Amino acid sequence: MNKAEMLQYLLKKIPDYSSKKNLDNHGFQFALYVYPFVFKGKVHPFIDNFLNVLEFIDTKVPDYSKVTIDKISKVSKKQFEQVIQIFGEIIVLKQLVSNSIPNTITLEPTARKNGKNPEYRGEIIDKYFALEVKTASLFDFALNRQAGLQITAQLNDIDYKFLAETGKVVNSNSLKILDYLKSANEKFTQYRQNVEYQNDFTLLFIIWDDYINEPISAIINSNCGLFTKKTFYSKSNFDNVDGVIVIRHIHQFFRGLQYAEYVHYNAQNKQEYEMPDWFDYNNPMTHPVFIQNPYGRKIPVHYIMDRLNALPFRESTEAVAAEYKPTDFIDWKRMLSVSGLYDIPKNLREKLLNFFITSNQNKSSVPFTDISFFNNISIDRIYNDFVKSYPADKKDNFEDEFFDRVMRQVTLNDMVINRIENIAHSEDEKKRRTNLNLLIETHFNRIYSTRSTSECPCNSGMKFGECCQVKLNYFSYTNYFDL
Ligand SMILES: [Zn+2]
Repeated sequence: MNKAEMLQYLLKKIPDYSSKKNLDNHGFQFALYVYPFVFKGKVHPFIDNFLNVLEFIDTKVPDYSKVTIDKISKVSKKQFEQVIQIFGEIIVLKQLVSNSIPNTITLEPTARKNGKNPEYRGEIIDKYFALEVKTASLFDFALNRQAGLQITAQLNDIDYKFLAETGKVVNSNSLKILDYLKSANEKFTQYRQNVEYQNDFTLLFIIWDDYINEPISAIINSNCGLFTKKTFYSKSNFDNVDGVIVIRHIHQFFRGLQYAEYVHYNAQNKQEYEMPDWFDYNNPMTHPVFIQNPYGRKIPVHYIMDRLNALPFRESTEAVAAEYKPTDFIDWKRMLSVSGLYDIPKNLREKLLNFFITSNQNKSSVPFTDISFFNNISIDRIYNDFVKSYPADKKDNFEDEFFDRVMRQVTLNDMVINRIENIAHSEDEKKRRTNLNLLIETHFNRIYSTRSTSECPCNSGMKFGECCQVKLNYFSYTNYFDL
């Protein structure tokens, strides 16, 4: 299919609003029917982008577009996260198609009939890779996560109970990551039983939203991470998963569909992001991260950096942004994440936890945003520096003085965070969205009152009464951002 045929196929598969039972039936309905009506026949930019990508993949993987549109159209609006999962598969396949040797890609390669299989296989430079993709379902979790203290790793029971005294502890997502790793390991283990596949590298892609700290902490938090010696799940080291690539991208899909504004943070060259490719995960401001499994085969980094565009995780990097540093918990009222809790003595840890509980009560909550932003405090680093600089002959005040030093950093953070532009930015954005929605709503209502015998505003060349008046019969404008 070419692009125009794909669009026709999509329109055929996804119902318009001409019957009541189709109302709110699919997440694409607004983009496919309302948008072109309001914007004089223009294709919604996200749909246009989606079709471009399918057309590109089709040239290397024939029929992919048809299969994908079939899959997507079957998912109702209520289960829209399944569409997001398909998007996750598409961005990885697009990267593979762009960076592999021509004609080496296999979809769902199996070692045995009806067996478990990863998503893709393809040759990169001179080596075959098997790729598995897991896209997180975060709808329910997202609204909850900034409520108070968010545990990002597995704390020990006593510390957990301690923090739970704040009354607002949001649990870690690490069990989700555990499930992904278990499932990927099973698939890759069976996959490698095929003689042809046994020397392939295996990679698990985890597609997350902007809160990339969650999967990173689950995998490499030094106290409990699934790829560390102190893993909270000792039954497996997932040795058939050679590495994981975590991508912060889910929020971009929603933005693309809802109001076409790409998250570029403070990128210098904003024009570059004005017409973004929503299916391209390469974003230097929020780069994907690669985590090598120490128990898997060592993947040389040039495959990862040059072809899959992820940066290897390095804990030692001083400049690592807070989002990329494995943490123990995030205090969202302070917008501060805490790392290295288990690399300091127990009594100091307890004192610290106590502080976070008692000092947290009278701060107001951070409003929900789809952009993650917080600072980090590395308790272990402060502790190590302090121990080094503390005079050997002076022991009495060690605890108090260490605690003072931590508090100084916390206070500094509080001062910085008070004028965080992110919150202001999210307020501005809310206003901007509301205004835009009002504008479109007004316009919609005005053109919807067109006479039936006039030409349809969507530029189809048909009469309004035979075109959008029928297609949008049961649609009443509520919210442009309501997916
Ligand atoms: Zn029309």
